[in-house]
Amino acid sequence: MPDHYRQTRFLLGVTDPRKAPPDSGIEIALAGRSNAGKSSALNVITGQRALARISKAPGRTREINFFAIADDRRLIDLPGYGYAKVSQNIQRRWQQGLTRYLEQRRSLRGLVLLMDCRHPLRESDRQILRWAHAAQLPVHVVLTKSDKLARGPGRATLMQVDKQLTGLHPQASVQLFSALKRDGLDELHAVLDDWFGFDPGN
Ligand code: GDP
Repeated sequence: MPDHYRQTRFLLGVTDPRKAPPDSGIEIALAGRSNAGKSSALNVITGQRALARISKAPGRTREINFFAIADDRRLIDLPGYGYAKVSQNIQRRWQQGLTRYLEQRRSLRGLVLLMDCRHPLRESDRQILRWAHAAQLPVHVVLTKSDKLARGPGRATLMQVDKQLTGLHPQASVQLFSALKRDGLDELHAVLDDWFGFDPGN
């Protein structure tokens, strides 16, 4: 694993995007429905169990959490959305916060959108893809928990999602990923390296 991801540390969590750290350098945001496997992915991407625990801590799940990687590069963990127990009002506020963040954050270089490979492209995922496309924000879709599907159905899902993305965010890329087996980790690091401007394989 590239060293810089291992050096990731928690910077801060905010509920109000206006209290985010200075808008400089490069940021990559992670988003997904609750239970999509975002914390597990963050854990595996950085090789640090403690980071994902921070995002999961009570009171932090509705926050935007900022993690510093290196040289003014940050990973942003956006609050999970689409959770049934959360009221419509909170959902709406979350969407407003996200929209403001997407539209105003100059350092935001790309969005990693995580979806359970068994339930991809729910309506809330589609909404985010349409916003991101309108905002000209690059998106990389990560189909999580790929260990839950056999190779054939996994590939079929990948192709179906890829096809459907054409109508939502034509430039978006997509991959299979398993935090459990670490499958697809190199591919995911390569996308992050590219967006962060890190030399490949460093
Ligand atoms: P979050 O709510 O998006 O942060 O999701 P979590 O990372 O907490 O994962 C939600 C559930 O899915 C947990 O029970 C995880 O153990 C499980 N999970 C996450 N990633 C994987 C994976 O790659 N494979 C399998 N089989 N389960 C996973």
